[in-house]
Amino acid sequence: MTDHRIAAPLLPGATIGMVGGGQLGRMFALEARRMGYRLIVLDPGTDTPAAQFCDHHIRAPFEDLNACLELARRSDVVTLEWENADVSTLRAMGEHVQIHPSPDVLEVAQHRVREKDAARRLGVLTAEYRAVRSKEELEAALAEIGAPAILKTARMGYDGKGQATIRDAAEAGAAWEELSREGDDFILEARVPFWMEVSVICARSASGQTACFPVSENEHRRGILHLTVAPARVPDEIAEEARRVATALAEGLGVVGLLAVEMFVDADGRILMNEIAPRPHNSGHHTWEACGVSQFEQQLRAVCGLPLGDPALLRPAAMVNLMGEDAGTGLGRAGVARALEIPGTALHLYGKHEARAGRKMGHLTVLADSADEAARRARRAWERIAAGG
Ligand code: AMP
Repeated sequence: MTDHRIAAPLLPGATIGMVGGGQLGRMFALEARRMGYRLIVLDPGTDTPAAQFCDHHIRAPFEDLNACLELARRSDVVTLEWENADVSTLRAMGEHVQIHPSPDVLEVAQHRVREKDAARRLGVLTAEYRAVRSKEELEAALAEIGAPAILKTARMGYDGKGQATIRDAAEAGAAWEELSREGDDFILEARVPFWMEVSVICARSASGQTACFPVSENEHRRGILHLTVAPARVPDEIAEEARRVATALAEGLGVVGLLAVEMFVDADGRILMNEIAPRPHNSGHHTWEACGVSQFEQQLRAVCGLPLGDPALLRPAAMVNLMGEDAGTGLGRAGVARALEIPGTALHLYGKHEARAGRKMGHLTVLADSADEAARRARRAWERIAAGG
């Protein structure tokens, strides 16, 4: 393969190609524009969040090789906000342009078994797990791991989709019936009785410089992130270990760009990796207001070969997602003005026209003098939008 390593940084005026045009791409686009870069987005949608702010939108499915090659040819570097593009297509693009993170990293991040194999190889703890491809393999894996366990599709799972909890051996058949339609490649994981869910976003540049954002504490509802609090309310040793794990994974996988690492903290204070995402992450949205650099600017700096920015948290923050089922994200924006009465509250809406249940429409970030107070205010602000007034 041709070596397109960035010897000198790509400076403002250069064109960045972005695979995916959702809200992560939109916030990246805002930062890229602010810094004087050009941006081309590849996304199949008609009015996608990122396309509203980019210089050019190649409207095509991610499977369209010609469209992907067009993006590669027209860009000085390609990065992504959606990690499930076909790896062979990305490799073909890599003949024309540097892709950060690399197709090798994406191949790992696209598959839950490969992800956990890589973590174990790098000395990072995970829940017990087995690869599963048939009902017989599921039963054998369950006998080894024990219940309760969670069966997940190995690919394309996000926001709790493609998962079935197995509370005892008798439920294995039903779980298989439910999920086997969604793929042919699965993972069975022991259910971790976690004390807290946390995440760390680690940036790594081509020169090997790394920088972690402070640890986020995450609360999910029905498998979807609801609230993030930063800094996570954990002892310093746990925060330190979480950052060490994220850095070890970013370095061990050779990531250039961002690596978001979701982790469980168990009752003994041990950290177990749950999953990785080689891109900006929902649990890092507060960095926009709360840190010395946003995760989106940090991604841009890493993939352009610029020095990384300062990820330090300037003020405690909490971020709450606004979903399609929250009344205020729909027509009339009921409750938005009342939410903004709460001190320190910032509103982000992603420009999605249709509010559907389960769809991320925007988020609120609330800054305060303590993590507790930020979390309290974020919940109050969210209640006003969710209730529509
Ligand atoms: P995931 O799509 O793997 O991030 O799962 C979504 C959410 O389901 C996680 O954030 C956890 O709240 C829960 N979950 C997933 N896997 C496990 C596990 N092995 N043990 C306990 N909870 C889990």
